Formats: sequence, C-alpha cells, structure tokens
Amino acid sequence: MDVINPATGEVVEDVPMASAPDVDAAVERASAAFPAWRAVSPGDRARLLRAFAQEIDDHLEELAALEVVNTGHPIGQARWEAGNLRDVLHYYAGAPERLTGAQIPVPGGLDVTFHEPLGVVGVIVPWNYPMPIMGWGMAPALAAGNTVIVKPAELTPLTARRVGELALAAGLPEGVLQIVPGLGPEAGQRLVTHPKVRKIVFTGSTRVGKGIMAACATDVKRLTLELGGKSSNIIFADADLEKAAATAPYSVFENAGQDCCARSRLLVQRPVYDRFLELLEPAVLGVRVGDPYDEKTEVGPLISAAHRDRVASYVPSPGATVAYQGSAPEGPGFWFRPTVLIPSSSEAACWNEEIFGPVVSVLPFDDEADAVRLANDTSYGLSGSIWTRDLGRALRMSRAIEAGNLSVNSHSSVRYWTPFGGFKQSGLGRELGPDALQSFTETKNVFISTD
Ligand code: NAP
Ligand code: MG
Repeated sequence: MDVINPATGEVVEDVPMASAPDVDAAVERASAAFPAWRAVSPGDRARLLRAFAQEIDDHLEELAALEVVNTGHPIGQARWEAGNLRDVLHYYAGAPERLTGAQIPVPGGLDVTFHEPLGVVGVIVPWNYPMPIMGWGMAPALAAGNTVIVKPAELTPLTARRVGELALAAGLPEGVLQIVPGLGPEAGQRLVTHPKVRKIVFTGSTRVGKGIMAACATDVKRLTLELGGKSSNIIFADADLEKAAATAPYSVFENAGQDCCARSRLLVQRPVYDRFLELLEPAVLGVRVGDPYDEKTEVGPLISAAHRDRVASYVPSPGATVAYQGSAPEGPGFWFRPTVLIPSSSEAACWNEEIFGPVVSVLPFDDEADAVRLANDTSYGLSGSIWTRDLGRALRMSRAIEAGNLSVNSHSSVRYWTPFGGFKQSGLGRELGPDALQSFTETKNVFISTD
C-alpha cells in the first residue's frame, strides 16, 4: 500500500499489508501472551503503562511529524494527538490497582465479584485521528489485562506502527500489543471473524460498522462501535452571537471536517439568522487552510483524492446554494475550501448525509421545539452544541437532544476522562472516562459458602 502525503500527493512509503493468515498468526501470539499478561500484578501493569506513556512523550515530536506526513494534519494538532495518546495511557495506567469488585451481603457465605479480562481485543481504527482513536481502545483494554491487536486504516499506518515499537521499548511483553496494518475487508474482517478475538472496538463508517455488528453475532463477540454523525450547532437569539459565530467554523472545519463530532448542521433562530450569517462570513474566510508545517495553520488537506471527490460532490449540492467559501491552497494535495451551504429545506442531501469534509449547512428555526425536531431528525446522535444565555433552556435542550456528547456555549466534546459515544446509529457503548474498563471485562460473581 502506497502511503501518500495528502498535502503534496507524493508517495511517502510503501507499507506491506497483512493478509488474513498474518492476522491469524497475530491472534495466536496475542492469545499465547494473554495468560502471562493478565497475571502481571496490578502495580507492575500500571508501571508498564506509565513507561509506555513516557515513551510516547519522549517521541512526541517524531510521532507528530509522522502524522503530519501521513494525514496532512497541522503540526500543532498532530502534537495534540500524540499528547492525547500519552494522556490516555497515563489515565488508564491508574486503573489496574483500582479495578475493584464488590462484596455483596448474602446468607451462608461470602459473595464477591471480579472484573475478568476478556482475552484478545481487536481495535479497528479509521484514518481521521489515528493516534487518539487507537489509544481510546488500546489503553483501557491493556489496563484491564487484555492483549490487543490494532488494525490501523490502510491510509494511515505510520504512527500506529511506531507506537507498537515504542510499546516494546517501554517493556510491554511481546504479543501484548501488536499492530497489523492491513486492508479492512481482509485483515479487518479476519479480526472480526476470528473466534479467539473476544472483543472488537470499531471506529469508522456506519455502513462498515453495521456489517461488523452482524459478523460479531456469530460468536456473540463483544463490540464497541463509534460511527458517523450529523450533529447540530444550535444558536438561540439570546446567545453571545459574536462568540458563537467566531467559534462555529472550528466546530465543523477542524481536521478539515473529518471528524465524527463535526457540527455540520448549523441551526440559527430566525430573528438573528441574517445577523449571524453576516458575523459568520469573516470567521469562515479567516480559517487558515494551508501548509501543515506552518505553526499558524488551522486546517490541512483532506485525506485522499477519492475522499476529496466525495466531498466535492456536495458542492454545488442539489437543493442548496453556496453562501460563501473560505480559501485553500491550489495545486498538488487534496485541498478543499471551507464551505457554507444554505439548503432550501431539511430534505436536502447536504443537510442529511455525513459529508466528512469542511462543509456546513445552515437552516433557521423558530423555537425550542422546532430546534429539537430539526436536530433529532437524523439516524445519527453523536454530539452537538447549544448556544444560549438562558440556563433553563440550555438544560431543557441538553435533555431533549438525542446525542451522546453535548456542549453548552462551547464545542468541546472529547475529554479522555469523560464518557464518549453515540445515540442511535452513531454507535454502541461508550469509550473513555472512568467506566471504560467495564467494557473490556466480564463481571464474575463468586459465592463462597461458610459451611
Ligand atoms: P471505514 O471504511 O468504515 O474504515 C474504518 C476502519 O475499518 C478502517 O481501518 C478500515 O480499513 C476498516 N474496515 C473497512 N472495511 C472493513 C471490514 N469489512 N471489516 C473490518 N474492518 C473494515 O471508513 P473509512 O473508509 O475510513 O471512511 C469512510 C467514511 O466513514 C468517511 O467518509 C466517514 O463518513 C466515516 N468515518 C467515520 C469516522 C468516525 O470517527 N466515526 C472515522 C472515519 C471515517 P481500511 O482503511 O482498509 O478501509
Ligand atoms: Mg474504507
């Protein structure tokens, strides 16, 4: 597989892709490594994960540079991504000694619960945030005593491969964490169907996620899904319009819109609709799209030529007009200008489909009920933002929107110490936060008779 630098279109490296038999061999190694890894004492497992986090930190610049070349992410963002992987490892390094069960009062004996690791866990990663998303699956899985096989996206194997080497350098035993670059329908599919893989963590498209869910049924395999989104940024007339307009572009154009949490629907209350679009224009034109190595760059290129073609098919879009577009470099690389669309109705394709590019669609709404109806009119339910100065309204809206991650008067959605995941077809289960270990363990109940 030729790895391409999306900012230049040039080939970076030819990376061998694992075949299904290669995956089988990796599963055998992971399976063989499991008994010893689960037996590592909690304190020692914690120490190894902290050492792993330290290795990431010691190589943060190298990892960030690899991510820039492989994904075109701006260097500042790429550093954040490597830092997120380090922090997630540190966070779950605190888990092994705290993975406590319960003691439940029963007559005639002692009843206790244990959280047992599952065995081999497969983590299937997309190309949009290779390091963070790998970490969100891998770190709690390892902390709970599982062995892990990561399949990075075919387009973005470089940082994952290096992270695998750093795990070994940190002292993780052979076979505990393996990275298997490969194609989805071959290497990915084999992970999903292999009977010795006890759990799959999948992040990617809803279409592939549904197929994986069906395939997991064969072995009743455990599964966490993080899928697509079509999230709303809802601006009420009483909001701080200047701040809402200044930040709205970053809620959807960050990472060139290749973000499952992108607020790609912008809902503006009718009395301030025109004013808001006026305020939004300079903010959109001010987004700095360009050279990923420039420290001031905010947005890089799209991941591939094929993906750019897909995004471009929405601009112009049937049933929508282009309000305005920001700028992007010309020439080689898979660049796309930040784009604001005005659909003629909520039937328009751009309003309903996940574009996964720097394209936002704007519609007006009348009142709270209208905003809730529009925002919930989708099979997705991942994130969203609510802008209002009325606390009661903020709470009513937060309860009414069918989505897993909401923010009020901000766009933050993913913090590694709070739960993350989707309603409806945006996913299944939750990652991150204090409870993530539960989804990498089975609860076992043991009764010991005192007779
Ligand atoms: P994808 O095809 O769903 O890929 C996600 C991961 O699953 C990749 O590692 C992929 O491998 C693998 N995969 C593909 N088919 C598989 C199969 N049959 N069995 C097991 N694994 C399989 O998504 P994509 O191609 O990266 O992007 C397509 C669309 O998905 C995007 O345009 C966007 O709408 C959505 N997406 C969502 C997220 C998110 O965070 N929720 C992230 C990325 C993409 P390959 O790399 O070889 O395909
Ligand atoms: Mg794919």
